[in-house]
Amino acid sequence: MRDRDMSLSGTMIWYYTICPRQVWLMSRQLNPDEDDPNLEYGRFLHERSYRKEKKELRIGSNAMDFVDMVDGTPVVIEVKKSSRTAGSARLQLAHYLLTLEEAGIKVKGQLRFPEERRREDVVLDDGLRSQVIAAREAVRRIIDQDRPPQVERTRWCSSCAYAGFCWA
Ligand code: SF4
Repeated sequence: MRDRDMSLSGTMIWYYTICPRQVWLMSRQLNPDEDDPNLEYGRFLHERSYRKEKKELRIGSNAMDFVDMVDGTPVVIEVKKSSRTAGSARLQLAHYLLTLEEAGIKVKGQLRFPEERRREDVVLDDGLRSQVIAAREAVRRIIDQDRPPQVERTRWCSSCAYAGFCWA
């Protein structure tokens, strides 16, 4: 039987907000095209923007970008290419904050969009916690399906690394 909780990473929460089909494909290790320019650019941006920062923080299946000290307090940082996906990034980071809280560590988070020189603080309040719990359940339901969700065109398809797989 598939280990549902091991599959439940922050990346899965991110994919869920973008397209449920991506969740299912990732859960079957059907990884996207590694040469896709969007993936390559994301890796480049991450390396260039924060090469001096600490390494990823890993808990279970979760790989958080890094922890930084902000006003003397440790803060979990998530770096994104564009604030166009700020809602998805907020939920992904909230999942990390909840995962840490479940491990007895209560910290705040911060989204960083280096290309836009923008930062956004994220606090796991009751509303965001409820959203994360609901998203986790939805991801688990998708992973448990025998077949992927139907292909449905989204506004992200043109820049999705699975586009060749879905629309060939
Ligand atoms: S190409 Fe579109 S339908 Fe396919 S996984 Fe990506 S976003 Fe989803």
